[in-house]
Amino acid sequence: MIDGIAETIRSCTKCGLHKTRTQAVPGAGDDEGKVVFIGEAPGYWEDKEGIPFVGRAGKLLDEVLESFGITRDSVFITNIVKCRPPKNRRPEKGEIETCAPYLDRQLEAISPMVIATLGATAGEYVFIKYGFTWTGMLRENGQPKSLNTIFGRLTIVPVIHPAAVLRDMNKRPMLEEAVSRITELI
Ligand code: URA
Repeated sequence: MIDGIAETIRSCTKCGLHKTRTQAVPGAGDDEGKVVFIGEAPGYWEDKEGIPFVGRAGKLLDEVLESFGITRDSVFITNIVKCRPPKNRRPEKGEIETCAPYLDRQLEAISPMVIATLGATAGEYVFIKYGFTWTGMLRENGQPKSLNTIFGRLTIVPVIHPAAVLRDMNKRPMLEEAVSRITELI
C-alpha cells in the first residue's frame, strides 16, 4: 500500500512544485513501525536523492535518534509537502492543502502508535487534523497529546525541527528532550 502511494506521489502534478522539483520525496523507512516522523518539505539534498532528511538537518536527526537507540530504519520518515519548494522557502498554504492528503493516506496505511512532528508546519497541521490547538513550537516541544483512534491509541509528540537546532545549538537539549519522550512511548 505504501509503495502504491509513493508511486502516485512520484508522478503527481497537482501543484506548481512539480515544475521545479528534481523528483518527489514520498518518504522512507519502516511502514510497519510504531513511529512516523513528519517534517515540512524536502530540501536540496532530499530533492537530489529522493529520500527525506538526508541533508545536514537529517544527519543531526539521525545522530540524536541513535543516541536514544532509535535507528532510522525502524521508523518511517516523511514530510507534509513531498516536493522541494524553490530555494527551500516555506510551503504555501495551497501547496500544503494539495499535498497533505498523501500524508493522510500514508498515516492510514501505517497507523502508527506515535507521530513525531518536526517543526511548526508539521506540528500545526497534525494538531489541527486530530483536533488539538497549536500554541507554538517553543511551548509544544516534547509535550505529547494522545487520542483514541479506530486503530488504537495514538500519541503526537511535537519535536523542534533539527534545522532550527542547527541555527541555534543552544536548542539541542529541546530536540533531545522531545526525542526522549518518544522513547518512553515505544
Ligand atoms: N527538512 C524537512 O523538513 N524535511 C526534509 O526532508 C529535510 C529537511
